[in-house]
Amino acid sequence: MTVTFAEKLALMPRYRAGVPAGQAPEAIASGEIAQLASNESPFPPHPRVVEAIRNAAGAMNRYPDPGATLLRRRIAERYETEPARIAVGNGSCEILLAAAEALCEPGAEILYAWPSFSIYPHLAALTGAREIRVPLAAGEVHDLDAMAAEVTAATQLVLVCNPNNPTGTHLPATEIAAFCEQLPARVTVALDEAYVEFQTHDDPDATVDLLAEFPNLVVLRTFSKCYGLAGLRVGYAIGSARFRAAVDAVRQPFSVNALAQAAAAEAILHSDDVARRVEGTIVERIKVEEELRGMGLTTADTEANFSWIDLGEAGEADVVAGLAERSIAVRPGAPLGDPGHIRVTYGTAAENDRFLAALAELLDNCASSATKSLEDEANR
Ligand SMILES: *Cc1c(COP(=O)(O)O)cnc(C)c1O
Repeated sequence: MTVTFAEKLALMPRYRAGVPAGQAPEAIASGEIAQLASNESPFPPHPRVVEAIRNAAGAMNRYPDPGATLLRRRIAERYETEPARIAVGNGSCEILLAAAEALCEPGAEILYAWPSFSIYPHLAALTGAREIRVPLAAGEVHDLDAMAAEVTAATQLVLVCNPNNPTGTHLPATEIAAFCEQLPARVTVALDEAYVEFQTHDDPDATVDLLAEFPNLVVLRTFSKCYGLAGLRVGYAIGSARFRAAVDAVRQPFSVNALAQAAAAEAILHSDDVARRVEGTIVERIKVEEELRGMGLTTADTEANFSWIDLGEAGEADVVAGLAERSIAVRPGAPLGDPGHIRVTYGTAAENDRFLAALAELLDNCASSATKSLEDEANR
């Protein structure tokens, strides 16, 4: 006899780390590995945020504030809303998982686009809900009309990732509003906006304004990307007070630790610093996208801090391995739902140049070996 686990365990997708385990932190810190696989910020946190973490460290004998009072109040002030409508989590991933638990059970349906964020398949596996995936439309954008058409009496949760990970594509708030209009008010729409600060279509808070009109809408944001705090794990949701209460009911009370609360409460005061980081990222985005097009590659129309690259004739596995040999970590497309692609995060200017040079070299090698095998064939 051996221990038996829950059947759902077999359904849980496995998270794959962006950099092989064991060599990560030191090699990344020293610049030996260009870590362009996890959509992190290449910039360290604001000095005042680091100071806030240091100041909080001496009180680690105490449990954190289970209500995250200061952090939730600062987030509420930033969005001119009430703290009762702010849920915080151990990363916005925790809020996604808690939302699924609070909203879904066997028989329920979760609807989302594909390819999209790799955590979404966990939600159905965890709760026993059925997942309905709607393929992205031409241009790798969410097909919101096709998604609305898939809503049934069983639909409990609809996920819209905007900008979408891994494609970077973004839909303006007017289209999100038109989508919400089409859905029954009993269905929760979770708008996952981890990259919203990087998009240039809209005022980044245009979707937050929609909350007044749609009480079933939830906007999810995170400190992991443009704030440069991925290691601390803090995300938040702005929605109804009922949504916040439901999420809190299914989780352990201390999921956002005291250092994370102190850091995020400081970080949200530095919007000028966020704007500066975003500008730096957009400069790199324009450069990288232009160079990729110059290599004859097709990319999705990104509004995020990463590019989604169609490798065409070149093999995804060969390119990923070739980059890894040069100590450059990117995300292969196959596990993300679309083989033949890679997703590359913008790092520092130097890291991006290193990536572009390595990719150009690999594509040249691919092309010349293809030509050579054609010649070999002709000579045979
Ligand atoms: C990175 C990311 C998040 C944020 O995850 P955290 O748990 O807050 O670190 C959420 N959604 C998407 C689509 C992401 O890519």
